[in-house]
Amino acid sequence: MEPLLQQIEEYKKEIELAEAPNAEALETFRIKFLGTKGLVKTLMGEMKNVPNEQKREFGQVMNAFKLLAEEKYEVLKSATDNSPLTTHDEIDWSLPGDPLPLGSRHPISLVRNKIVSIFKRLGFAVAEGPEIEDDWHNFGALNLPEDHPARDMQDTFYINQNPSWMLRTHTSNVQIREMEKGKLPIRLIMPGRVYRNETISARAHCFFHQVEGLYVAENVSFADLKQTLYFFVKEMFGQDVKVRFRPSYFPFTEPSAEMDISCLICGGKGCNVCKQTGWVEILGCGMVHPNVLQNCGIDPNKYTGFAFGMGIERITMLKYQVKDLRLFSENDVRFLKQFTAAI
Ligand SMILES: [Zn+2]
Repeated sequence: MEPLLQQIEEYKKEIELAEAPNAEALETFRIKFLGTKGLVKTLMGEMKNVPNEQKREFGQVMNAFKLLAEEKYEVLKSATDNSPLTTHDEIDWSLPGDPLPLGSRHPISLVRNKIVSIFKRLGFAVAEGPEIEDDWHNFGALNLPEDHPARDMQDTFYINQNPSWMLRTHTSNVQIREMEKGKLPIRLIMPGRVYRNETISARAHCFFHQVEGLYVAENVSFADLKQTLYFFVKEMFGQDVKVRFRPSYFPFTEPSAEMDISCLICGGKGCNVCKQTGWVEILGCGMVHPNVLQNCGIDPNKYTGFAFGMGIERITMLKYQVKDLRLFSENDVRFLKQFTAAI
């Protein structure tokens, strides 16, 4: 029996030194010692060859050997479960993930939000109104009677079922609707989509976006208008931008003006964008015409007001140097994703 006991001692040493760095090595250990044809079973089978007086001692040795192998297996198993994964086909959770494509705000939305936030700081609230409008709110109340030639400038789309309804040509309909409510003072900006019957080109579209502003109260003057718009321009385009007003004509304001800013490209020296003048037009404005106030039931002898309106596309084109209006509605991702960093 001595050689058998020596053999078992050697296996015991082997068990004590065994390591299982991965699941494969652990399984090899299990098969070698604890499998159905493993060493524990094989050596147990030697019992029949052991002399009777030594069977008891051999049984004790074999029980201890089996226990050692089983305990070692449990130890190796728990260590393997907790160890970092090592084989090539397992997942490395510490690797960075695949980047997800993130969208960005549309440039028109970016600029509209910026305009709204500037005027909000001056106490202007946002008002909205219908895009399908009747003749009175889009034209009549704005001092544009049916035969007025200024209507030719704003041809639009009419609704088949009711030809007196149309798609609004400006957001001024919201001004009329707000003034009709009769709650004064009014200090509002009106962002929204408007429509014109125009041939689509790099500089014109059948729909675009406007922001209009309206302030009606007692003693509102042209100085208030200028100061408000100065503030807007400096916040929108920077402190170095120069501003000028040119007299103009709109049926719904008197006096009326168009406002230019110094060209953002050439700084006023003259270039293609400003047609060598050094100035670019950004909005129209004026004091609300007394007829318009009267049309809305506001006493023009007691109240005065100013109004202004600008195209968001125009401001966006100036701010981001976009040369073609159509890019804003084509949804070309190559164009849109350039504004990811501008949010
Ligand atoms: Zn220029």
